[in-house]
Amino acid sequence: MPSEDPEVEFDRVAADIELRRLQEAWTPSHQGVTTTSGRAYALKCLAWRRAHKPEKIDNGSLYAGSPMYFYCNACGHVSDVLPEGYIMGPSHICEECVALKQFGWLE
Ligand SMILES: [Zn+2]
Repeated sequence: MPSEDPEVEFDRVAADIELRRLQEAWTPSHQGVTTTSGRAYALKCLAWRRAHKPEKIDNGSLYAGSPMYFYCNACGHVSDVLPEGYIMGPSHICEECVALKQFGWLE
């Protein structure tokens, strides 16, 4: 991981807190009562994730037997980590973006 300057780190923490609040709001019993501000938060978090994509791990460069890393098509963050020789196909969308997709907020 590249070292981050304190300001970036602060933004990351703020985005994490907002994401957690969103995820709490997105329990099934609350679906349908999402607000404009919830959408704004979600899109802000998505924009943050897109602007702070992790460096992708090249699965081909890992030792035999290493887990395989897969990345979200929407935001570029890790969407799945599977053991080598996985049977079920990997997910190409991360948990945060799945929620956005469910609400039709993914552009
Ligand atoms: Zn994503």
